[in-house]
Amino acid sequence: METSHKKIPVGVLGATGMVGQRFIELLQGHPWFELVALAASDKHNGLPYAEVTSWRLSGSDMPADAAQLPVVPCRPEAMPGVKVVFSALPGEIAGEIEIAFAQAGVAVFSNAKNHRMGADVPLLIPEVNADHIAAIPQQQKQRGWSGFIVTNANCSATPLVMALKPLQLAFGVSKALVTTMQAISGAGYPGIPSYDILDNVVPYIGGEEEKLESETLKMLGEWQEGRGFVDAPLAVSAHCNRVATREGHLECASIQLERSVGPEEIIAAWENYVPEPQAAGLPSAPKHALVYRREIDRPQTLRDRDAGNGMTVTLGRLRPCPLFSYKFVMLGHNTIRGAAGGSLLNAEWCVHKGLL
Ligand code: NAP
Repeated sequence: METSHKKIPVGVLGATGMVGQRFIELLQGHPWFELVALAASDKHNGLPYAEVTSWRLSGSDMPADAAQLPVVPCRPEAMPGVKVVFSALPGEIAGEIEIAFAQAGVAVFSNAKNHRMGADVPLLIPEVNADHIAAIPQQQKQRGWSGFIVTNANCSATPLVMALKPLQLAFGVSKALVTTMQAISGAGYPGIPSYDILDNVVPYIGGEEEKLESETLKMLGEWQEGRGFVDAPLAVSAHCNRVATREGHLECASIQLERSVGPEEIIAAWENYVPEPQAAGLPSAPKHALVYRREIDRPQTLRDRDAGNGMTVTLGRLRPCPLFSYKFVMLGHNTIRGAAGGSLLNAEWCVHKGLL
């Protein structure tokens, strides 16, 4: 592992938003990356970050180094010397901007939906599909880019895929029915008006169910040289709901396994899963990617979302399902594991594999 190299200069696109702020928080004191540039919309051009940003994260203050940085437009020429950008841009504008950076030789780690399903773009969770970075050389060759784009998943797909991967490896999974209870921060800031979400549950999040269903298949699928990404042979059905929690997506799943196993075997598959980022000791990899809690009423959004500094997915309530094999509950922090923390881990994985 490269730990003694000079720090890699990095920038954040969409630095003023919910995910952008998480990036800035997590990049503070990072052993491999140095935050040197912040970008948002042109209206902030040249103004200090502190002047244009209300820090909305609980438990941390705006880092002093970031506070002084000028906010620049989201263009490669405005960020000279930057080797990596973390993109927290809205889907409406992220696509073209991210391509411009990749063309300019920058490695882009994106949270936006635009390139996730690209035929040569890794949709990466290193604990799940670390080998999908093999698509990067092909992406660069086909598109003539010296940089590249790696995306991370929709924040609701991340906990499900992480929970399913060890079960897929050990027993095979053929069906998953998942119902989410997603926090309001998942809609960015200011997100849903308080009048519409307080005392309420909204059983619709535009495009979310489709993303959860399709991204899961890509991530649990394979990268085959000469063929590309091949979806996992799995049927996923999703119900996505917005609930009045601030952070953390809680999800209830019923799954069909391909062979008959006891509950303790499933729990053991989760608890004994030591994926590559953990084995490699990457800086953002939590000690345990998955934690199974045996209390009858866990995981809970408030109590478990910060497990492993927000990078651990917490599981619980495994029990037989009258329709499929088993049902259980999982929880993942949407702006950390499901966004900025996941993206940072993706970049660390690419450094570890010599791509940066
Ligand atoms: P957000 O709070 O609305 O922040 C959006 C950011 O984009 C702000 O910094 C904003 O800067 C900037 N921006 C908006 N329009 C722009 C433009 N025309 N040019 C340049 N910058 C522009 O959104 P978010 O929740 O952080 O989400 C960011 C991305 O991550 C989205 O693609 C989202 O789908 C994805 N994501 C979010 C989550 C989550 O839990 N929130 C999880 C996974 C993925 P200004 O201050 O200049 O407007």
